[in-house]
Amino acid sequence: MSHRSFASSVTAAALVASAAALVPGAAQAIPENSHCGVQPGNNNDAFVDHDQLTAAVQQLERTSGGLVDVEVAGHSNEGREIYSARVGEGDTVIYVQSQIHGNENHGTEALLNLLHMLGGPSAEAQQLREEVTVVGIPRLNVDGGEHDTRQNAMSWDDVVAAFPQLAGVQPAWNYRASVPGFDVNRDFHPDLDYVPAPEDFPGSSADTGWYITPEAQTSRDVYRGLEQEFGTVDYFVDLHNQWSCYKQVGTDNLSTLSISGRFIADPTELGDWPKFDYDASRRANVAVYDALQDQGDSAFGHLTLYPQDTNLPGTALGSFALRGSATVLFETSSQTQYDGSKRNGMLTKQVETGLKGLIDAVADGSIDAIDPEDYEQIPQREFLPAD
Ligand SMILES: [Zn+2]
Repeated sequence: MSHRSFASSVTAAALVASAAALVPGAAQAIPENSHCGVQPGNNNDAFVDHDQLTAAVQQLERTSGGLVDVEVAGHSNEGREIYSARVGEGDTVIYVQSQIHGNENHGTEALLNLLHMLGGPSAEAQQLREEVTVVGIPRLNVDGGEHDTRQNAMSWDDVVAAFPQLAGVQPAWNYRASVPGFDVNRDFHPDLDYVPAPEDFPGSSADTGWYITPEAQTSRDVYRGLEQEFGTVDYFVDLHNQWSCYKQVGTDNLSTLSISGRFIADPTELGDWPKFDYDASRRANVAVYDALQDQGDSAFGHLTLYPQDTNLPGTALGSFALRGSATVLFETSSQTQYDGSKRNGMLTKQVETGLKGLIDAVADGSIDAIDPEDYEQIPQREFLPAD
């Protein structure tokens, strides 16, 4: 049964509850001649829509007997609910966000599956709940998810209505009038109290953002609440998708996942951020890498490092890293517009496995023994054209 027909024929709640049973236990390797990137598009149909997401998070809270605590953390520009789900009572907090780009879905499915496991009755889940607190936002960009767009759904006029001081300025560089909407993942600022100022527009990719979108504001508000509660938000994970076709440099192995902990070239260029801890980010990435290597000789083991020459202080990862969070970027190799749904089960399970590896390493303390220099040994990524 294809995942597409599965997703459209059962409720989202059932999808969450039984997804683990449907995913093959062993990862399937992707052959080199898999004709990457040329399957029919509109893969978006294979994932939960907003109504199904709503049902899924309500189901998470209900079936866990409230161990998974679901709240409406905010609303999108079109008024859809943005959900946060919290599980565990440990002193170390792991904040995981998915789908800030609306057409990047696999992380949302993986996060829902993981929250379901963490709220479950197993001894393992119980142990993890004692050691860590996991807070997830499955699908931050709920409007983009519904429209299958990278951007949110917001015009520049909407921004000026909310921030009248911006009347007459050139729209933000990350605005796309044809959508219309913003790349929400350039709208962050390490100063959580930053107020949009006309002289800071249109900005650039090397600059900080502004919190002009309700979606970035919601992520910031959740982050701020956790920072006030825990002192530091220990870990922040952002789940994305990239182009479908990459391989490990020097091999014929297709790479279905890239990861990174590097988003800031030089933190001193951006003010005084004494808690910035690049080694903590590198250790967190190695924990993810090790968990997927442990899956043996499978496509799960072929992950790569996302390009390291980036400097993106306006991303959630960049801004939150400056505040002291260890950060991990997941980039699953699949784009809704270019991929069919054949690989969805494997791609989702891969994110779930890597994320679970991080949580395990944090919970049992083994992350502290990881040598951050191991990060530099993760293979590089090489672009492949669609074939
Ligand atoms: Zn993305």
